[in-house]
Amino acid sequence: MILVLLGPPGAGKGTQAALLEKERSLVKLSTGDILRAAVAAGTELGRKAGDIMERGQLVPDDLVIGLIAERLDTGSGGNGFILDGFPRTLAQAEALDRLLKERGQQLDAVVEMRVDDEALVRRITGRFSCGSCGEGYHEDFKMPKVPGACDRCGSKEFVRRRDDNEEVVRQRLQAYHAQTEPLIAYYERQGKLKTVDGMADIKEVHQAIARALDGGVG
Ligand code: AMP
Repeated sequence: MILVLLGPPGAGKGTQAALLEKERSLVKLSTGDILRAAVAAGTELGRKAGDIMERGQLVPDDLVIGLIAERLDTGSGGNGFILDGFPRTLAQAEALDRLLKERGQQLDAVVEMRVDDEALVRRITGRFSCGSCGEGYHEDFKMPKVPGACDRCGSKEFVRRRDDNEEVVRQRLQAYHAQTEPLIAYYERQGKLKTVDGMADIKEVHQAIARALDGGVG
């Protein structure tokens, strides 16, 4: 199965992708995670993308399309892939259709997670993660059970993304509305779009996604 999670920054795509990954033996492909790793490693890709990401803008289509093409070819997809944060422009969506067709595959479903902008700003500015294993947390919704220690690995080091501050979040939301939102109509035309309410809590959203995927409701 090849699945796209579509939605604004902070909608919970990464969280839901991680749950689906575990439950359905899919491999999560997050262009944001791949780019952040490249920035941290100081690779050429990282140098090209780093400043753009810090401004909350989209990195050029050819860079991210190349990344996805590479990953699709590694063949480590298990039962398939969940794409988180890709595609984000019409050119990327068209390239994805082409890449999958060349490989004899096709997109099964696109799940749009709908959340309003003001909720997103708070969701993003309150989030942080374990610096060691990457487990995600939030000041309002999910603090570590033992204060100061990661639930999963016990590490005491937590990190925040450099682009998770209010000014950059607003820019990222603007990029979403201008460049990514048109994909909703694109996938609706293909009959692949399923929309869920992303305002509910993590578990409820997960259940809504499962229903949308298994029950085929739009
Ligand atoms: P994310 O972790 O998905 O919020 O992505 C963080 C940042 O990485 C974005 O604000 C963009 O600068 C960049 N990025 C991630 N995915 C893409 C993409 N598909 N196209 C362009 N830029 C991307």
